[in-house]
Amino acid sequence: MATSEAFRRLAGIDPDKDGKRSSHIAIPVRGRAPIRLPITVVRNGDGPTVLFTGGNHGDEFEGPVALAKLARHLRPGDLVAGRVIIMPAINPPALAAGTRASPLDGRNLNRMFPGRADGTPTERIAHAITSAVLPLADALYDLHAGGRNAVMIPSVMGHVFKDASRTGATVAAMKAFRAPAGILIKEYETAGMIDTTAERLGLIFGCCELGGAGMLTPETVAVTETGIRNILKHFGIMAGRLETAPWQGKRRPRLLEALSYGHYAKATASGIFEPFVDLTAKVRAGQPLGQVHALDGRRKPAVQEAPVGGVVYMRHAFGLIERRQAVAIVAHESRR
Ligand SMILES: [Zn+2]
Repeated sequence: MATSEAFRRLAGIDPDKDGKRSSHIAIPVRGRAPIRLPITVVRNGDGPTVLFTGGNHGDEFEGPVALAKLARHLRPGDLVAGRVIIMPAINPPALAAGTRASPLDGRNLNRMFPGRADGTPTERIAHAITSAVLPLADALYDLHAGGRNAVMIPSVMGHVFKDASRTGATVAAMKAFRAPAGILIKEYETAGMIDTTAERLGLIFGCCELGGAGMLTPETVAVTETGIRNILKHFGIMAGRLETAPWQGKRRPRLLEALSYGHYAKATASGIFEPFVDLTAKVRAGQPLGQVHALDGRRKPAVQEAPVGGVVYMRHAFGLIERRQAVAIVAHESRR
């Protein structure tokens, strides 16, 4: 199969054989050792293929941890039909530096897709994944979190399509993940995202936002690991019932929507962000979400208001904020 040939050439393993194989994809970089993207393929007979990627941004850690554990422990006998491709760290230089963008070229991997074979290191990573790995998959779950700057209700994000059956398949898988929330969202700057490339190739896609503030918690790791197994069950690759990891003591997942830019509150000043409300708070339009203090404390703090009423889905996490950075995303409960 032509699609497997590119994978075989880059990863040096045959993705069409049953069993478990681990390797890496080497990305050449001028003047230094190649970047090595770890990759594990577990296959047991014909069936769908789900690809999991982690470490797209280097300050988001649930994906790398849960996927490294999955790659170590998943056995072919755990699968009933199909294939799992596991890439715990698709941006190793950023992960090693703990930064959103790569220190090698300053690029944000999730704005570089579909990438370039002869581009910068980050563009080359995107190109290798687009050309060799995405064509093998029926679905992609790209595991993110809020990074240093943000914290989210652990969730799976998805997009709305003109084709209602496609939106339906996206939402069904989103619900099966059983994160504390699913959210249908309109995102800023979709050009260059792995989302856009995967969706253009026809994959079912979920961008998982599993926590944030640049840290792991026992809950966010549990939600991630449970969600990964649930996705494999949803696609019929693993047997068994869906499970729910408790989060903040609750087990009832919610479905949210933020389908216009009107849901984003953007900071009106730079300084120190003092939040008044936390994740899951119900707020009304115009309610103060927090305030931004000048560093010298001499000006009156700039109050930041909720742009719409709803549930606080995301809020700024790091102590400092810059003007126009997102203060919060306030989402509506979905009826879907
Ligand atoms: Zn991210």
